Amino acid sequence: MPLVPLPELLSHAGKKKYAVGYFESWDVYSLEATVAAAEANGSPVIIGIGGLSSNHDWLQSGGIELYGAISASLAARATVPIATLFNEADSFREAAGGLGAGFNSVMMHTQGWDQEKLLSDTASLVAASHTVNVAVEGEIGALAEIKDGVLDAAGASYTSPEAAELFVRETGVDCLAVAVGNVHFVTGSHIPTVQVDLIKQIGNAVDVPLVLHGGSGTPDDQTRQAIAAGITKVNVGTKLKYVFGNALVAELGQPTEDPNLAFGSRFEGDVNSRAGQALMREIQRLMDVFGSTGQATR
Ligand SMILES: [Zn+2]
Repeated sequence: MPLVPLPELLSHAGKKKYAVGYFESWDVYSLEATVAAAEANGSPVIIGIGGLSSNHDWLQSGGIELYGAISASLAARATVPIATLFNEADSFREAAGGLGAGFNSVMMHTQGWDQEKLLSDTASLVAASHTVNVAVEGEIGALAEIKDGVLDAAGASYTSPEAAELFVRETGVDCLAVAVGNVHFVTGSHIPTVQVDLIKQIGNAVDVPLVLHGGSGTPDDQTRQAIAAGITKVNVGTKLKYVFGNALVAELGQPTEDPNLAFGSRFEGDVNSRAGQALMREIQRLMDVFGSTGQATR
């Protein structure tokens, strides 16, 4: 199945009241595990890489093209609908690197930008992207995040319905990430409180799909409530690396007798494939929570 445009995936999710997961990858194994989970569950999915925890020198010297090509190749061979996303680029220039690289959607991490730069750079990215049939996710408001295990809400601000309406009207983004109590980078005990009523109010003010970042730390019941209130895309990153990392440590705790088997073989003894199976199970579980399981058939 060729790449499916992100707006098309999210429109189907909106009609059927579920959310498509963006499960952020970091290597070939995690991309493969994400697609395998989607195939096993008969679920649409969004695959890709993100700039938020990546080295920007690396991204801008071939990393974007490398992962765009792998993502597009995996999507083209899949039997389920897949969109590819270059998530949270740190600038217009970096996001523009995703155009033509194999991603059919891009997003900039704009939290902390002043309003004028936010509006003008986002509108410019939309104009450049739409000419090559790439969709743009925008964001308004700022998430709190976990820094060194502690909640840092200093730069956080909720998305207001008025600001969301103005932002969407001025920029023409295809979907909108909202800050409604969700938190980035949760791995520990912090439990966010998602403001379900605010999601509904924002949904009434704009006519584009709404996105919930910070899927790692949001409890399943809150995620389900957020989806019922109108969220059609949920981003998960940190938790996936946590699951993969723990499985990898468990695998590497044993002596590696045959390195040719253990690294890159894709046979049963491949340690990254085995960690990928743990990752796949967690993604399958999240697809059930998001309600996207079984939604690949239209
Ligand atoms: Zn995010």
